[in-house]
Amino acid sequence: MTLRRISPALVAHGGAGGRGPAADRSERRHALLAAVRRGADLLREGGSALDAVQVTVVELEDDPRFNAGTGSVLTSAGTVEMDASIMVMERRRAGEARISAGAVAAVSRVKNPLMLARAIMEETPHVMLTGSGAHRFARRAGIELCRSEDLITARARERWSARQLQLRNPSASTAARSTVGAVAIDSKGNIAAGTSTGGIPGKIPGRVGDSAIIGAGTFVSAQGAASATGHGEAIILAALCREAVAALSGRSPSSVARHAIATLLAPGKAEGGIVIVDCKARIGFAHNAAAMQVATFDSAELRHFWVEPLTRAGTS
Ligand code: ASP
Repeated sequence: MTLRRISPALVAHGGAGGRGPAADRSERRHALLAAVRRGADLLREGGSALDAVQVTVVELEDDPRFNAGTGSVLTSAGTVEMDASIMVMERRRAGEARISAGAVAAVSRVKNPLMLARAIMEETPHVMLTGSGAHRFARRAGIELCRSEDLITARARERWSARQLQLRNPSASTAARSTVGAVAIDSKGNIAAGTSTGGIPGKIPGRVGDSAIIGAGTFVSAQGAASATGHGEAIILAALCREAVAALSGRSPSSVARHAIATLLAPGKAEGGIVIVDCKARIGFAHNAAAMQVATFDSAELRHFWVEPLTRAGTS
């Protein structure tokens, strides 16, 4: 049986959260577009959805303006602890599909946690490794380790200090959260998703968020893929990405994305966002935070959006 060729698609988000300063927004817009362009180039040349997701997310992990890899936000103790996950559905002959996933939690010495998650998926019988075991495996797998301090930017340190003051004098933070994630489908119909983050600022050391949890922050099935951002505890409780992908049969990704944020997160008043691609290469995204930026590649076109938030009352 010959497989039908699909026009590939890719969607990436740069986190749902505060709007951040205007100058910063334009830089983050360019950076997100540049990362999606790299993934799109790969898909255009016949590359896989998995590689496209990796290239896009790794580029953002290396960009200190995003909360993932270098530039991650700090824990309450002023340390870095990053979470990441990746998942793929690969089409085989005669309608068979293979699903695999890998994840890391609370790693502090890995430049690109998403690459480590992929190595765990491809080279171990496990789905998730954490902390020191993950670091040991990274060394064996040839994944670049660094000093934890190398991941801490001056800006992350400043935000941490400001937060320490804020804790004594609480007020709503307008800082952009800037977790990163991407979903893609390639021309062979393989589907992948990946998410990477430093977590939420001021988290208790050892806290693991949704970005490390398959089904919560990242999920893929033969129907499609999703990557989430926002309040990790609520996203875990809602199994947000799994629920959204399960709802794809028969519905468009944009209606599923809006519905998932409105019905699964908003009743608990949690803030979050989601990006989705389905098996027909249709895309969707939604959020209910102050801001979320998304860059898309579909129908051979690259686009960027500052997505309008859903109103608390409705799904549009
Ligand atoms: N979802 C991430 C976490 O809770 C944070 C974010 O997306 O901003 O760790």
